[in-house]
Amino acid sequence: MTAACVIGWPVAHSRSPLIHGYWLRTYAVAGSYVRRAVPPEGLDAFLRGMRAEGLAGCNVTLPHKEGALRAAAEATAAARAVGAANTLWFEAGRLIADNTDGVGFLAHVRAQLPHFPRPDRPVSVLGAGGAARAIIHALLAEGAPHISVFNRTRARAEQVALHFGARVSAHAWEERAAHSRGAGALINATSLGMQGSAPLDLDVAALPADCVVADIVYVPLATPLLAAARTRGLATIDGLGMLMHQAVPGFQRWFGVRPQVTEELRSLLVADIGAR
Ligand code: NAP
Repeated sequence: MTAACVIGWPVAHSRSPLIHGYWLRTYAVAGSYVRRAVPPEGLDAFLRGMRAEGLAGCNVTLPHKEGALRAAAEATAAARAVGAANTLWFEAGRLIADNTDGVGFLAHVRAQLPHFPRPDRPVSVLGAGGAARAIIHALLAEGAPHISVFNRTRARAEQVALHFGARVSAHAWEERAAHSRGAGALINATSLGMQGSAPLDLDVAALPADCVVADIVYVPLATPLLAAARTRGLATIDGLGMLMHQAVPGFQRWFGVRPQVTEELRSLLVADIGAR
């Protein structure tokens, strides 16, 4: 029986067991997927002992994403670009690290908009943290012509632009609406709008009528940004799809089946979000 888990500190909030548990049942895979609370000082020992414990790999959540990347023998281009890992597995006994947030985001958007990102229009990304970097990496790989990054801490946006090169530019947080007048898409990759955080203050009237608005926050599912964009008649993408799609590569690595993201899985997550 194949076993995998999600590690974090804390880890009780993780919805990964719900997602992988659903797929294990759906595909009748003889496997298990559980939460493992690993304190910061226990990460290295956990990773060293993972194979001996019989684990095929794990998902990684805060605060271990950077440490997991450092501990891996090899990392994908996405994990290196983000500077953090969320998925680990073994190949010929060596620990491999990936970051699947970017491909997860893109897979979800493409399920609704197959030609995303548009080759003729810039994309505005709000935020310069790990999730923003993952999304920028994926957008560039898929041909986005230019990405404008807006971040509260401007220096962090500058670092991102420096890292990704000429197709990415850094801008002041205050410019986010005015500078997005020609954007083909605007993506909120900050934590603003999340339950317990302030809402994202953005005048959607400044966006063009065909701009796609995506929010990667998924609690609540209808963030104030998405609600305002819908009222304006813009196409919107919520954050739950990214959560489901980012889990696909790990399940395939550990359990040998490429799972499907379904409406049934989405309903389970929506119910879980409502219940907590
Ligand atoms: P992170 O590395 O901590 O980055 C947080 C970002 O939010 C930074 O750009 C930060 O700006 C910005 N921010 C925080 N508070 C702000 C405020 N009051 N005003 C303006 N900007 C603010 O976090 P992350 O891992 O990138 O995650 C970001 C969000 O995405 C979280 O809500 C997370 O839950 C969500 N997420 C969703 C998925 C999914 O599957 N849907 C996956 C990953 C993450 P500064 O640099 O100025 O601090």
